[in-house]
Amino acid sequence: MSPTAPSPHPSDSDDHALVPRIIPRAEHGISRKNISNGALRVLYRLHEAGYKAFLVGGAVRDLLLGGHPKDFDVATDATPEQTRALFRNCRLIGRRFRLAHVVFGREIVEVATFRGVGEVGNCDRHVVDGRIVRDNVYGDIEEDAIRRDFTINALYYDIADFSVRDYVGGIEDLRQRRMHLIGDPEQRYREDPVRMLRAARLAAKLDFNLSAETEAPIRDLAPLLADVAPARLFDESLKLFLAGHGLESLRRLHNLGLLGQIFPATAEALAGPNCASFGRLLGYTFTGTDDRVRSGKTVTPAFLFAAMLWEPVHSLAERLCNEGADPAVASVTAVDRILRQQAARVAIPKRFTYAMDEIWSLQPRFEQRQKKRVMRLLAHPRFRAAYDFLLIRAHEEPELKEQVDWWTEAQELDSEALSKRLAAANAPNAPRVEGDPVRKRKRSRRKKHNVESPDTASAEPSSE
Ligand code: ATP
Ligand code: MG
Repeated sequence: MSPTAPSPHPSDSDDHALVPRIIPRAEHGISRKNISNGALRVLYRLHEAGYKAFLVGGAVRDLLLGGHPKDFDVATDATPEQTRALFRNCRLIGRRFRLAHVVFGREIVEVATFRGVGEVGNCDRHVVDGRIVRDNVYGDIEEDAIRRDFTINALYYDIADFSVRDYVGGIEDLRQRRMHLIGDPEQRYREDPVRMLRAARLAAKLDFNLSAETEAPIRDLAPLLADVAPARLFDESLKLFLAGHGLESLRRLHNLGLLGQIFPATAEALAGPNCASFGRLLGYTFTGTDDRVRSGKTVTPAFLFAAMLWEPVHSLAERLCNEGADPAVASVTAVDRILRQQAARVAIPKRFTYAMDEIWSLQPRFEQRQKKRVMRLLAHPRFRAAYDFLLIRAHEEPELKEQVDWWTEAQELDSEALSKRLAAANAPNAPRVEGDPVRKRKRSRRKKHNVESPDTASAEPSSE
């Protein structure tokens, strides 16, 4: 390996005359076989046109770790317009950061011009209260490297000679399985508070530790997330929870004091009187979702978010009932208030909040056995998700087992057999199972799955 090692983790933003550590082709494990055709075409085309062209970011990191990146980012000294001139299938996007997207069928290769450090005020960078709100300052590769978030995300694979360049000590951090924010952590989190969520997410995904300096400011700075656009937090939430490592992300967010900033009601419930049971419910739900994602099945955020807000909705409904509200009114009010509070933080699209509401409101209907109602529930478009959620609840509420068994069987019967069963069950002397879900809810004391110590779950959240 090259003897020229840079001072790792530069903390001065003007200290960008860095000497890279260059890892030649023979000394790293990146093979072009694992790089998508689209990314290779973009890299070669830029290179042939005389521009610098590097694969960068998560793809290089994941390739060095032996993984299979899902997307490929390219960094170049060509401006977005120069990039567009090279590709017919290219469009320019973004305001905060202008980028070129080169499209190959279903693959999109993101091409970014090296970002510069630039002087605030005399260029197209706008900073408001320490936060970067627009940033179109171009620079060289050294500047580009130190403007990235973590050292392990600032490695460059050079298509010119297939070497890897490391300006900030990323290779060593990869080896030590640790994440280190480049520069002064507090300043970098203030510039973009989402970096705190990225710290939790990438540490969860890679099973890495945060370095002490990188972790230290997070608790104090977590409230800065209140100023991040809810739409961006929705995108981040999907990456946190629906990329196959949701449970670990949830745990890291919780432990770093970040969960309360994006799902305040969930964090509050995890510190409330039913925290153990709620933690286990989340453990079952997230494990089920992670398993589905890993085996390539579809998942809906509505199911996960319904689980995350289940306890808050229920506690609030219970409280309103205790204060004298009618149970039906209490439920509707609780759903409305919790969803509104959540929407102020994370912009969950309406189609998902409708689905969440349906998953919740169908729960008491599993108690009903009148033929018409049973048939209607079985035909309901959200039946499957609601039933899957009932299965998860039954881990914590053993009294639901009877309902689970009944509905599991009901789905397998043809309509004639089901009608017969219902007629027998609804005969004058047959026992009726019906009641008020809010008042009837009981808690079990079983301690098995929770956010602190999850296990595997059999839960199978349904797809959209
Ligand atoms: P993933 O595997 O989830 O895609 P990633 O690191 O590739 O992880 P992206 O969101 O695809 O994440 O970002 C690509 C690269 O852009 C990162 O590796 C990092 O170098 C840089 N980057 C992304 N977000 C930020 C940020 N908020 N601040 C600084 N650099 C960032
Ligand atoms: Mg990426």
